[in-house]
Amino acid sequence: MITGDGRKSWPPDAGQGLTAMRPCGRIAAKGPSKALGSVGSGQGPLDGTVILALRIGREPAQAHIFKHALARRADGPFAHCFEDRADTMATKAVTTHGPRACAVEVSPSEVDAGTELSLTCRVWCSHGCDLTGQSVSIRSQDATELASAELAEFDGETHIASALVLRAPLKEGVHVYRAVLATHEKDGVLHEGTSSEFSFMATAHAASVNVWGLPSAIAAGEHFRFKVGIKCSAGCKLTGRQLSIFDHEGAQVGAASLLDDVWAGTSALYFAEVEAQAPFVTGDYQWQVATPASDMSVPHAAGSCTFAVKVVSPSDHEVTVEAFDSEKQTPIKGAHVLLHPYRALTNEAGVAKLEVTKGTYKLFVSGFNYIAYENIIDVRGHVTVRAELTMEPEGQEDYR
Ligand SMILES: [Zn+2]
Ligand SMILES: [Zn+2]
Repeated sequence: MITGDGRKSWPPDAGQGLTAMRPCGRIAAKGPSKALGSVGSGQGPLDGTVILALRIGREPAQAHIFKHALARRADGPFAHCFEDRADTMATKAVTTHGPRACAVEVSPSEVDAGTELSLTCRVWCSHGCDLTGQSVSIRSQDATELASAELAEFDGETHIASALVLRAPLKEGVHVYRAVLATHEKDGVLHEGTSSEFSFMATAHAASVNVWGLPSAIAAGEHFRFKVGIKCSAGCKLTGRQLSIFDHEGAQVGAASLLDDVWAGTSALYFAEVEAQAPFVTGDYQWQVATPASDMSVPHAAGSCTFAVKVVSPSDHEVTVEAFDSEKQTPIKGAHVLLHPYRALTNEAGVAKLEVTKGTYKLFVSGFNYIAYENIIDVRGHVTVRAELTMEPEGQEDYR
């Protein structure tokens, strides 16, 4: 095989040196071809590459076909013969076009580290050449090929290689890659090799933090439990991830690590149950749950959310609410009872019990398909309220 010498562009200028490379065992003599300007030879390792320096003919724009032959010689095992057969071949003119233009779109331009992004490369030649079938190679900063695709579509102006999918590196920050178009020659038209840079940002995965299952009101100084859930923007497994609870003064009042299972019905919401103690003074407090950043193998950003903690005086009175259907006089199961800030649901017998502190409350009882019941009650001891709910009128059709 004969190639350009690597330092100069192909095809070479007339009279320029060329290097012939061929893996072979041993070379015994230099090529005797009369058509070559000069032939040198060297000897590589037994299993290595022999490099022959050749000099091509002085006619410009002429195709030189070097014929290589092995010939047994009397004084050595083999001779490698190179013969420039340019004089016997038809001459061929090669037109060189300048670099093709290449534009790369990255989607999305900001992506979670280690997740996929897709590229669309548009390539065109200022001479309007058909570039269909030429390939685009995507290379990283260290020139490793990450993907390649053929120019398959044509939109009337540019040739497009689409559906190039890459995985972003795990390292956060801006990454600069290149789309490389190799030198390409076909039908006497040579397109020089070129490349085009593009960049994207790999970011740490975001954490969305949630709190649920908090009691609506907590007696001062009482221990209470609630759930904390964390979901990674890339859906990573978060088992073992630490979280801390901070009170209204920023003091840590609880901690937990996420369990192995995801919350039922979700794909990647990891959760933990946390216990904390309410402040001793009644009032409305803003607490915070926070999870620190981690960079074990995948960069994860810190996350947090605030939640309200309502602290009331210790309950000392019991309010019993009995929900009944006003017409059928049957108990209503599952009715919502709100004695702000206390809440409860009625049981099978239509009964809900709430432990509350002394005071005047607005009572709401609502049930599916019922008109909500409303009343003001004064709680100074144990109270029982019978709430009769009326069905919502169901259409006004006249059945006569
Ligand atoms: Zn062209
Ligand atoms: Zn993640």
